Amino acid sequence: MNPIVLQTPEEMISTRATLFGKSIGFVPTMGALHRGHAELLKQARTENEICILSIFVNPTQFNDKKDLDNYPQAWQSDFNLAKENQVDYIFLPTYQNIYPDQYRFKIIETDFSKSLCGKSRPGHFDGVLTVVMKLLSLTGPTRAYFGEKDYQQLRLIKEMVAAFFLPTEIIAVPTVRESDGLAMSSRNVRLSPVNRQIAPTLYHALTKSATAEVANSHLQNAGFQVDYVTDFNNRRYAAARLGEVRLIDNVTI
Ligand code: AMP
Repeated sequence: MNPIVLQTPEEMISTRATLFGKSIGFVPTMGALHRGHAELLKQARTENEICILSIFVNPTQFNDKKDLDNYPQAWQSDFNLAKENQVDYIFLPTYQNIYPDQYRFKIIETDFSKSLCGKSRPGHFDGVLTVVMKLLSLTGPTRAYFGEKDYQQLRLIKEMVAAFFLPTEIIAVPTVRESDGLAMSSRNVRLSPVNRQIAPTLYHALTKSATAEVANSHLQNAGFQVDYVTDFNNRRYAAARLGEVRLIDNVTI
């Protein structure tokens, strides 16, 4: 069966009302879907009666306009991947649909969101938390699925859900990688062929270096512009640029 596409909040809310009493698994994404997203959908499909996918490239979480303008879009293959994974509904809103308030109202976390990626991407997590709050309000899921690839995001969302007593369980899904170790990401298609060869070094430097400092110099030697490599709470986080593309990854230590 084809997934049903819903565009407006009104359509999402009235559809949600017809699903009363059913367990709902929700997977929010920005589209250009790959095997990482598919893993989230598979888990949502298995664990719930209804599976909802959202596709929305959220402008408020981009601090770099060029990154937003170049963000890949792939509606037809996204739709096919959703169908293959037996998604019931695809929520596909516009900016106006999601921000009728023109982003006057925001969710702001004042501590962890200011470190790591928050330092070099001011306002990024305000945008992420705000859009996730709006999407959770509209879809009312039993469970929502997030990737460990964006571990800082995952942690902040778990903490936001607890802070606001939201009745949704946040499920963490392990990072899906290419066979050479590179974490799958929609942005990987923007790597030049040469940088695509270098990119897996990010994962290998994180896992094989004794300290964050060693990993950092390893990455610089390989040609990365390193934003940070930081050990925090038994996890090593990194963000680094190859050309125009900013890659992030994290591993347990
Ligand atoms: P995005 O479309 O990049 O905003 O990602 C949507 C969701 O998919 C987020 O929860 C991401 O953490 C998750 N995700 C993206 N890439 C991967 C991956 N390689 N493995 C697991 N989850 C991922």
